[in-house]
Amino acid sequence: MAPIKLAIVGVGKIVRDQHLPSIAKIADYELVATASRHGTVEGVPAFTTIQAMLEAVPEITAVSLCMPPQFRYEAAHAALNAGKHVFLEKPPGATLSEVQDLVRLAAGKKVSLFASWHSRYAPAVEAAKTFLAGTRIRNMQVIWKEDVRHWHPNQDWIWQAGGLGIFDPGINALSIVTHILPNAIFLTKASLEFPENRDAPIAADLRFCDAAGLEVHAEFDWRQTGKQSWDIIADTDAGQMVLSEGGAKLSVDGALTFSEPEKEYFELYKRFAAIIANGTLDVDLAPLTHVADAFMLGRRKFVDSFFD
Ligand code: NAP
Repeated sequence: MAPIKLAIVGVGKIVRDQHLPSIAKIADYELVATASRHGTVEGVPAFTTIQAMLEAVPEITAVSLCMPPQFRYEAAHAALNAGKHVFLEKPPGATLSEVQDLVRLAAGKKVSLFASWHSRYAPAVEAAKTFLAGTRIRNMQVIWKEDVRHWHPNQDWIWQAGGLGIFDPGINALSIVTHILPNAIFLTKASLEFPENRDAPIAADLRFCDAAGLEVHAEFDWRQTGKQSWDIIADTDAGQMVLSEGGAKLSVDGALTFSEPEKEYFELYKRFAAIIANGTLDVDLAPLTHVADAFMLGRRKFVDSFFD
């Protein structure tokens, strides 16, 4: 099959760290253009706006949108309207309703739309889902604590309205939780901590349950120095399951049962090629819905100002 002629918009950290190396390993894609105000990729025609790129390179068949979420809708609308398949970095947008609008547009244009959740493709996530499906879950704890200064230095957008703050990494945890649990969960209580000088939270404490009464407690914090934690722990009738390192490793009662090298973005691009081939959409809004619920239900506390 002829390769998908791909364009990337918003050439920044995640494009360099993950998209470019993953695309290079998959024969399904040929990178034919980029659009970014400053970023470029050596040897690839570069434009500063998506509109100029779409006009100049009509052979583009698919577009990956990797800019911050507040600026994704306009670019997605332009790409879908031009009949291109679209890959949305996570989170798929700044609001639920704008993503729903993109779903309608993609369906009407008969092109594929992919709301990517990279953490769902972490190596041990499917093994965790299988383990939980075979037992009774008593409770679940989610601990997502990292050092924002290390992982997001000087990213102003992340602290602005729509940038999600601590939910930028926290939504990765929610994407895993909503995938591995057998039943839907819903938020019952939340508290959010906002630095006095920022529009997005630095920490969040979330309580969920499902219809059968399963309790899920999530703690997200960006002030963690030293050891970083991206862990999901479930007490079950078959022992304590720990899905650690953001979904990379699975252990039960302390014994490692699953660990494989990380290839999340390779898997994301394989999935995108598959939905393009099938003519389908893959847009699950559950993780973003929980974040929206946290902003609706959460109590707000103001804490010390944050400076990079
Ligand atoms: P980033 O480097 O700060 O932003 C990506 C690029 O978007 C920037 O280099 C910039 O390129 C463009 N951009 C920035 N502000 C813009 C604006 N106001 N209007 C239009 N374009 C703008 O961020 P990132 O870390 O790559 O994250 C981008 C997305 O990927 C986010 O949604 C994030 O959640 C997701 N993501 C990030 C990571 C990670 O580890 N960093 C991991 C997974 C997913 P130009 O200046 O050239 O336009």
